[in-house]
Amino acid sequence: MSKILLLVVALALFVPSVNAQSLDAMIDRDIASWLTTYRNLHTAPELSHREEKTSAFVAGELRKLGFTVTEHIGKYQNAQWTGYGVVAVLKNGPGPTVLVRTELDALPVEEKTGLPYSSQVKTKNDAGVEVSVMHACGHDIHMTSFLGTAKMLTELKGQWSGTLVMLGQPAEETGDGANAMLRDNLYANFPKPDFAIALHDKPDIETGKVGYTPGYAMASATSIDIKIRGVGGHGSAPETTKDPVVVAAQVVMALQTIVSRENSPLDPAVVTVGSIHGGTRYNIIPDEVNLQLTVRTYKEEVRKRILASIERIVKGVALTAGIPEDRAPVVKVSEGTGSTYNDPKLIERLVGAFKQALGNDNVVEMPPIMASEDFGYFSLDHSIPATIFWLGASDPAKVRQSRETGVALPSLHSALFAPVPEPTLRTGVKAMTSAVLELMKK
Ligand SMILES: [Zn+2]
Ligand SMILES: [Zn+2]
Repeated sequence: MSKILLLVVALALFVPSVNAQSLDAMIDRDIASWLTTYRNLHTAPELSHREEKTSAFVAGELRKLGFTVTEHIGKYQNAQWTGYGVVAVLKNGPGPTVLVRTELDALPVEEKTGLPYSSQVKTKNDAGVEVSVMHACGHDIHMTSFLGTAKMLTELKGQWSGTLVMLGQPAEETGDGANAMLRDNLYANFPKPDFAIALHDKPDIETGKVGYTPGYAMASATSIDIKIRGVGGHGSAPETTKDPVVVAAQVVMALQTIVSRENSPLDPAVVTVGSIHGGTRYNIIPDEVNLQLTVRTYKEEVRKRILASIERIVKGVALTAGIPEDRAPVVKVSEGTGSTYNDPKLIERLVGAFKQALGNDNVVEMPPIMASEDFGYFSLDHSIPATIFWLGASDPAKVRQSRETGVALPSLHSALFAPVPEPTLRTGVKAMTSAVLELMKK
């Protein structure tokens, strides 16, 4: 073997570790500025449908990196809302198109973490009520990891080939942002992805680690309003009324049989009555009682069956109570979010890349959950392989203590949720950069 050939073989053998090392060095160089970005985003959260400054910031950063950036993407059913979606495209030769998504919005939560960079933001919500605003779901962690990933990938352009689409999605918390972007011809006006990936922080995984769930990972969520109408009257003369309170009580109990008796135990599902309101005082039988429900499923056919069962049971119970047909209950199903299905082949590829980048011990399989996300819509009903992976966000000692005591750490959406910025951001950037490189490597 000639000396030159030996040198080529030696170089080829060393390429992966050199890459991993150089990525670490690049992250070391930039981590301080990402921490600043994170704290700035954390102190300035904006509610869903109002992500004006956040989207402008994300768009500006991507423009500085050389992406072709388009802002104000998204059409809501409520025409008064502006779509603050951002799409940034970087074409880098032939190859697959990979979409990386971050969310932009925050929640109406009053922060109680006591952190020096706590949010003090207050604003009026759509109902005109003043609310506090907090990044209580960690979308600030996601945006910072996303921008860091964009920077790494522009600097590592020599190592990948294809089209990178960095997408900032508004209104994830309200479940209508992904659809609003798709409705605004996202996949006609911009390159349609061959793969779509996203990350979400998770308080029950240690910072420094990532988690993954193959197949169904998160459930669909559907909100249902039920108005049970009766015939009100004096509390002392029930025989002259059709009592909607009693009907509502029977409905709540009857709904429990949907999951327990009508649904296959192999298809996870939840029917929760989260709110029940009716009546004004002791001795009045009211005219109506209002219920609010959430339904969670993985499979669309299960969701449809459960919605039909709810309608049937509610109307049936009212009929049995003798409520006249013109006072039949009104069941209103609102637009919800679809389930999140992690393409098993895609996740297998990503897990390989994560293990190489982070080490085997830092990549953990997690069980599916019944929480929900609207990221799944970007897969167009599973026709585009898509996956969301978990980013560990909590101090390892606290995670250990929580597992030992059974006391959960502050969850997402909690006023006390405080992800550990470092090494969470470091891991987020490293994992997402490695994922994209895996899919687009030369
Ligand atoms: Zn959330
Ligand atoms: Zn979230």
